[in-house]
Amino acid sequence: MDAQPKASHYINGRFVEDVGGKPMDVIYPATGESIARVHAATPNVIELALEAGRAAQGAWARMKPVERGRVLRRAADILRERNAVLARLETLDTGKAIQETLVADPASAADALEFFGGAIAAVNGEYFDLGGPFAYTRREPLGVCVGIGAWNYPIQGAGWKSAPALAMGNAMVFKPSENTPLSALALAEIYTEAGLPDGLFNVVQGYGEVGAALASHPVVAKVSLTGSVPTGRKVLSLAGSHMKHATMELGGKSPLIVFDDADLENAVGGAMLANFYSTGQVCSNGTRVFVQDGLRERFLERLVERTKAIRIGDPLDPDTQMGPLINKLQHEKVLGYVEIGKTEGATLLCGGGVPRLQGLEGGFFVEPTIFSQVEDDMRIAREEIFGPVMSVFGFSSEEEAIERANDTEFGLSAGIFTRDLPRAHRVVAELQAGTCWINHYNLSPAEIPFGGVKQSGMGRENSVAALHHYSQLKTVYVETGDVESPY
Ligand code: NAD
Repeated sequence: MDAQPKASHYINGRFVEDVGGKPMDVIYPATGESIARVHAATPNVIELALEAGRAAQGAWARMKPVERGRVLRRAADILRERNAVLARLETLDTGKAIQETLVADPASAADALEFFGGAIAAVNGEYFDLGGPFAYTRREPLGVCVGIGAWNYPIQGAGWKSAPALAMGNAMVFKPSENTPLSALALAEIYTEAGLPDGLFNVVQGYGEVGAALASHPVVAKVSLTGSVPTGRKVLSLAGSHMKHATMELGGKSPLIVFDDADLENAVGGAMLANFYSTGQVCSNGTRVFVQDGLRERFLERLVERTKAIRIGDPLDPDTQMGPLINKLQHEKVLGYVEIGKTEGATLLCGGGVPRLQGLEGGFFVEPTIFSQVEDDMRIAREEIFGPVMSVFGFSSEEEAIERANDTEFGLSAGIFTRDLPRAHRVVAELQAGTCWINHYNLSPAEIPFGGVKQSGMGRENSVAALHHYSQLKTVYVETGDVESPY
């Protein structure tokens, strides 16, 4: 069970320790026991990491893009070779079921490294014909970028941020969530093994104050945060007051609309994926499920039946389908929302309790939970819970569904299940969300952009769009004749 890393931080191609920083115990969420201890970065460690990035970035940026890409693709191969070991580490760090981490976490990081490692060779500036004179743009890296991660997808987050940053010729200092400090260190070692020059990917640990110190440091050109909306507001104002670039991947309360003509089993499966994967700790989850009147009864019946069959338990058991929540605080928060839902008058159809699991009494488990008869103004319908709590609403018309789906400050994602394709595209065009799924939910391959609108954030991860967000344009005007000067 011991998951102790060689040291807390990874700087300039080496593990670095400074026990002067605040201790951070790594808790295995399935038992509540401590499995490792690291220390938050001291100001000295932060300076070392940023200086390492600054010193290494220029030479890296001058390398041929395809050579930078080759390093990333080698690192992607190593991630895949070590998938089983990394998945286990991720399960220990997050409590997520091993059947998920084996397919979704290191694999998704590897996908991003592979995609950006290849795509970078095809990303260039533009040429402008000015009828004799001409101009062109160069897409140049920003410099030292900071990545700040959330706890739910630690290695994926580190991969999704570092791969486009590095491919584009930047250096990165990455701060994982204080809840999940382990797998970013493993990624850093893999980058070194793949041939990434020292100093280009550095990991420093810490709580919010370390993130804030990074986000306001003069050396830093860009901050990419994955986190909650309140944290996003703080980090964006820090970055803005120093005129830094920023990408904000924040929270959501996304709608999933199921029309009468939807395939019932697909819609039920989609709604479960949209609420229960990673024990509901997914930013893009479709936690407001709107089901049209004609299908609602049958939908709820199958949904409850299939939800009651979810196997909850030891995350390291390959048969387990749902592990615990990340920590005690989140456990209390989610159970608190279940109580709020009951008090507000919603109908609890299943779950809502803490399962009894022998040997795992100290874990942060909660049963997958479904509320029906939810009203739009209830707190469980408006606030991000970040746990396996689904709210089901009724609706009658397409216009009504669109209006109610958009009635939220968030705008991360949305989904729709229907067999009527014109309707699917018509509705999706009206939904205020950064990513929409038609007849599926929560798939985010590296090839397509991912990110939010409204309070859910700005900028995009993945796809060529992410390379644009880790670069800036330089315009070059070229004269081919004489200078016409009035002087
Ligand atoms: P959080 O906002 O508490 O913390 C996120 C990160 O920000 C952590 O590393 C934390 O240490 C750091 N941080 C906290 N305060 C800071 C400050 N003042 N300055 C700089 N850094 C600071 O979020 P969390 O609880 O770790 O994650 C859950 C949240 O993240 C949810 O709201 C979820 O929706 C969101 N999320 C969004 C996405 C996305 O891609 N849109 C993905 C995953 C999670």
